[in-house]
Amino acid sequence: MNMNGNIEGDLNRKMSTEAVHAGEMHDPSGSHIDPIHMTSTYVFENAEAIRSWGSGETEAHVYSRVGNPNRESLARKLAALEGFGMEESVAAEIFASGMGAVTSSLLGLAGSGDHIVAQSVLYGTTNHLVQEVLPNYGITTSRVPLLEPTLLEAELALNPNTKIVYVETPANPTMSVIDIAKTAEIAHSHGASVVVDNTFATPVLQRPLALGADVVVHSTTKFINGHGTVIGGALVSRDPDFIENGGGALVRYMGAVPSPLDCWLTSIGLKTLPLRMREHCANARALAEFLESHQKIRTTYWPGLESHPQHLLASRQMDDFGAMISIELGDFGTASRFMDGLSMSSLAVSLGNVDTLVQHPASMTHRLMSPEDRHAVGITDGMIRISVGIEASEDIIADFDRALAGL
Ligand SMILES: *Cc1c(COP(=O)(O)O)cnc(C)c1O
Repeated sequence: MNMNGNIEGDLNRKMSTEAVHAGEMHDPSGSHIDPIHMTSTYVFENAEAIRSWGSGETEAHVYSRVGNPNRESLARKLAALEGFGMEESVAAEIFASGMGAVTSSLLGLAGSGDHIVAQSVLYGTTNHLVQEVLPNYGITTSRVPLLEPTLLEAELALNPNTKIVYVETPANPTMSVIDIAKTAEIAHSHGASVVVDNTFATPVLQRPLALGADVVVHSTTKFINGHGTVIGGALVSRDPDFIENGGGALVRYMGAVPSPLDCWLTSIGLKTLPLRMREHCANARALAEFLESHQKIRTTYWPGLESHPQHLLASRQMDDFGAMISIELGDFGTASRFMDGLSMSSLAVSLGNVDTLVQHPASMTHRLMSPEDRHAVGITDGMIRISVGIEASEDIIADFDRALAGL
C-alpha cells in the first residue's frame, strides 16, 4: 500500500519481492529453504586453507560467535529492506536481542566523556540503560521532549560533547511522531550521529537511513519476526565499517550472539513482513476509528487519526501508520476492568505478533519509571496499549466492544 506517496507505488510493491528473495543463502545442497547451521565451529580442509584465510586471501567461517550463515543471511535480508530504494549499499548485524543492538549502537558511537541527547519518552529498558547504566561508564544523557527542533538546537549547543541523538518514532506509548530528516539535519550540523529505533514502524513503513539517519536499531522480536517465537535485535547502517568494526562488531566482543535457529525463524518471518504490515495497518485503522468514536474512551492515540498531533508529519514520513494504538480510559480501576473484559486479545507485553496483544504500560512495560516521570511523559494509570494483530478486524472490534460495554 502506498497511502502517502513516500515511495512510488510500483517500487513499494517490489519490497514484497525483496522481502521474499533478498539475502537467501542458496546453499550448495540445493535446499530450497535455507538450512539451519547449528554448529559452533567450522572445519578447515588443510593447513593451506588456514594459511589463505589467515592472510586474507579467502574468506571462511571459523566460529559461530564471529559469524554464522543464518545470521549473515538474515542480516542481508534486513539490510536490503532498510536500504530499499537507496543508491548506497546498507549493511546489518544481528543480535541476540533488541537491547543487545541498542547497547551496541550507543557504545559503538559514544565513549567515556561523551553525551547522548534523547527524546523524553523511550522504550522502558532503553530508558533504564541511558539513565542508570551508561553514566557508570562516563556516558551521560539529557532529554528533549519530542526532539523539538529549537530545543534540540539549544541542547546540542549546550553539550558540544554530544555524539548521538537518539530517536524512537512512533514513540511508546503515546505514538508521538518525530521528524527524522529534521533531527538528522540538526544533529549533523553539530557533529552528532542519529540512531533511530525503527521497531514500531519497520522498514515497510519508514526507512530512516534514506531520511538521513546514520544507524537503525530493531527489536526483531516484534513485527520483523512477527510470530512471537524469538528474542532478537539488529543494527543497520550505511557505513559498512560501522557494522564490521564499530557498533556491529560489539556482537562478538560483548557476546550478544543470536542462535542460528532464531536467525532462521526471523528470516522466515521477515519474508511476509510487507504482507503482514498491510493487514496490521488496515486493522489498526478500523480499530482506531471505532475506539475514537466510542464514548467510554477519552483519547485514542494513533498517528493515522486526524486528531493525532503529528498526523501530517506521520503522513509525510511514513507509508502507513502502524499497528500500535494507545487509549486513555481514565483510571487504573477502569483499565483493569477493561482488560478483564477481553476474551480474544491476550494480556501480554511485547508487540508485533500476528495476534492482538494488550498491555497496561504503567504496571507492565514502564513500571520501572517513577510515577512522576511517567506522568511527565503522558503515561497515565488509565492508559492501555494495543498491538493490533492480523485477525479479522470485525473480531478484534467485537472483542473491544464487549470489554468496553462492561465498563
Ligand atoms: C522490545 C523493544 C526493544 C528491546 O528489544 P528486546 O528484543 O526486548 O531486547 C527496544 N525498542 C523497542 C521500541 C521495543 O519495542
